[in-house]
Amino acid sequence: MAQLSPLLKQATPVVVDHGEGTYLFDSEGRRHLDFTAGIGVTSTGHCHPKVVAAAQEQIGKLIHGQYTTVMHKPLLELTERLGGVLPSGLDSLFFSNSGSEAVEAALRLSRQATGRPNVIVFQGGFHGRTVAAASMTTSGTRFSAGFSPLMSGVHVAPFPYAYHYGWDERTATKFALRELDYLFATITAPNEVAAFFVEPVLGEGGYVPANTEFMAGLRERADKHGILLVLDEVQTGFGRTGKFWGHDHFDVRPDIVLIAKGLASGFPLSGIAASQELMAKAWPGSQGGTYGGNAVSCAAACATLDVIAEEGLVANAAERGTQLLDGARLIGDKTPAIGDVRGLGLLVGSEFTTADGEPDTVTAQAAQKAAAERGLLLLTCGAWMNVVRMIPPLVVTAEQVDEALGIWAEVVDTVTKS
Ligand code: PMP
Repeated sequence: MAQLSPLLKQATPVVVDHGEGTYLFDSEGRRHLDFTAGIGVTSTGHCHPKVVAAAQEQIGKLIHGQYTTVMHKPLLELTERLGGVLPSGLDSLFFSNSGSEAVEAALRLSRQATGRPNVIVFQGGFHGRTVAAASMTTSGTRFSAGFSPLMSGVHVAPFPYAYHYGWDERTATKFALRELDYLFATITAPNEVAAFFVEPVLGEGGYVPANTEFMAGLRERADKHGILLVLDEVQTGFGRTGKFWGHDHFDVRPDIVLIAKGLASGFPLSGIAASQELMAKAWPGSQGGTYGGNAVSCAAACATLDVIAEEGLVANAAERGTQLLDGARLIGDKTPAIGDVRGLGLLVGSEFTTADGEPDTVTAQAAQKAAAERGLLLLTCGAWMNVVRMIPPLVVTAEQVDEALGIWAEVVDTVTKS
């Protein structure tokens, strides 16, 4: 009998029968409050009726139309719709299926456009699991160990992770930018660097928001040296942070934006957005794939954009995000084992540390397990997997946030006393 690979072992062995909004229902009819949103994918909630209807209608018309031979309506409509929400000037789109593929596409385009070999990523960043994306990922060695040689040309600069360094935000930011200049002076000359790849909030790396000064520092160096600024909005885009784009919090102009996850409410779809001038630097055949821009995924993405606008989900993410962060902070403040609680919008992380400030993976994982036993699904993240993160669908209600916080308080109390 065939078995699932051990790689598919879940933190919580829930077999889901169906999903509705912020809830998942298992095959025994038990209800789970889903504060993972499938790692931030089900932005409009599980099986939003409008998304379901749009996908069902499209399935009956056309499932797949490959863009090297034919174009289809959902792809054209989505392109036009995204034009209305993307930063001005990023008016050319290319589609793929996963976040990692979008990273690959942006990497190729950056090298093609600049003719330079190197990229700079920021420590704690996660960009995916294909070999190139894993080579650019530094949120944990588990993502890259054991299958070297990795792609060459990747250099790592610090991210302003103030809590980790034990500094305030300004000091951490100053340090990060100074180290970047030091890297330019000692390791790779800036005229060999094609792009910076950065997340507005470190996602898998522990839910650490960037800040305006840091982003301004990157923009300034990008402009000075002709480096492209690539913002990986795979986890932070489409309202997740309480603004449409994560980088909207930091008033920074990107050259390339990466999109996936929340874009299509669970259908596989990703892409990159750049200016037409930049996108024209990719030569025919150098980018592409069989499935990118799937018709059903594009129809679901158009419906997702409708739902985000009609239901005011960006504002909801901001309001419920504040409620969630404030509530988690209150719990964290009373708990010595929680060293820091931080986030932006509906990305909230509680970092577990031991009495001497070391990462406490054991307690974080115990908390995740205890929450699941009480019907609250959570994820961990961070280099040591010691940050418990909450990332509910954007449709989450005030009552559901309260319910989750109630369970979280109980869980934290139990696992830190035992
Ligand atoms: N970039 C970021 C910021 C992500 O959070 C992820 C996925 N967690 C990826 C890229 C990779 O996306 P995928 O798993 O769809 O390849």
